[in-house]
Amino acid sequence: MSPLVERADRLAALAREREIDLLLVSEPLNLRWLTGFTGSNGLAVLGTAHSGPQGLFITDFRYVGQVAEQVPPLWDRREASLELLGPALSEHMPEWAGEGRPRVGFDERHVTVAQLGRVREAIGERCELAPAGGLVEELREVKDAGEVSRIREAAHLADRALREVLERGLAGRTEAEVALDLEIAMRRHGAEALAFPPIVASGEHGALPHAEPRAIVIEPGVLVTIDWGARLEGYCSDCTRTYAVGEPGDLEREVYAVVLRAQEAALAAIRPGLEGREVDAVAREVIERAGYGEHFGHGLGHGVGLAVHEGPRLSRHGEQPLMAGMVVTDEPGIYLPGRCGVRIEDLVVVTEDGADVLGTLPKGLQVVD
Ligand code: ZN
Ligand code: ZN
Repeated sequence: MSPLVERADRLAALAREREIDLLLVSEPLNLRWLTGFTGSNGLAVLGTAHSGPQGLFITDFRYVGQVAEQVPPLWDRREASLELLGPALSEHMPEWAGEGRPRVGFDERHVTVAQLGRVREAIGERCELAPAGGLVEELREVKDAGEVSRIREAAHLADRALREVLERGLAGRTEAEVALDLEIAMRRHGAEALAFPPIVASGEHGALPHAEPRAIVIEPGVLVTIDWGARLEGYCSDCTRTYAVGEPGDLEREVYAVVLRAQEAALAAIRPGLEGREVDAVAREVIERAGYGEHFGHGLGHGVGLAVHEGPRLSRHGEQPLMAGMVVTDEPGIYLPGRCGVRIEDLVVVTEDGADVLGTLPKGLQVVD
């Protein structure tokens, strides 16, 4: 079975368990995962009957050729000139052969209130609409070998770009200049896009976990946190390193050592079956014992795939057990307001008995120019 047919098959089975007869999928990343379609306007209608997955794929004039190339014939491909989540659905929805009215699942996390109103107007009399969001996201969490290798490639590419930027030095350039340099380097190394705008945060700005690069020159004697990722064939990478520009102070060294210990402890703990919150607790305990617990205010990590932030969550609230094939980050940090911040982030794939790091960069405290 080709991967796309298999995905439709597994999604149909999952939707059937939730008593959904027809599932609507329109969110672009979910649609890409399910059908291969990379455009911005498409609607998949997946039938979940036991006889095997059957689907309709509706798009507009702009994407008809692209759909023919990307979406496999499992999907009955149609063109519509009207709003997909609305009148087009009424026109193309398959005749219902089952008893009563079909239960049509929509994604309440992504379908807007206005869209739902139009869907209701178009097909509300013929079917029962039921919220069924999160099913595709649930399946997306476990990656197949092809997905893992794309993420690994994206991570390697991002690493090469960072190495190149470090060779040019950080001191004397502004945070914004370094961020732009990194963006261009990733694109030149083959990234189709950025996974997200890079964070380059020096000195006291390092204490802001999601700092925006400033037009401020990086001075010797500070720590610089860089968080960046590339996108390749749709898949994201995500990595953070913190560097010392010139000799760091004692406090900076100590904080770095604590974060590194926490990061490595969590990395060693990751394995299938462990809940996200249990992995989070491993890193958090190291940081708390060192006395910095209140300065680690975010979760340990998150899933990465077509989206840079997706499930599962590795945080105090992550109740989901890890499974082999999940790709997650391990990124503890300590943020000292007005002084400095350290975050170290690796991207890893959960294996049968542990985790494989997908990046290539060393983690010991590195002093750079
Ligand atoms: Zn990151
Ligand atoms: Zn991250």
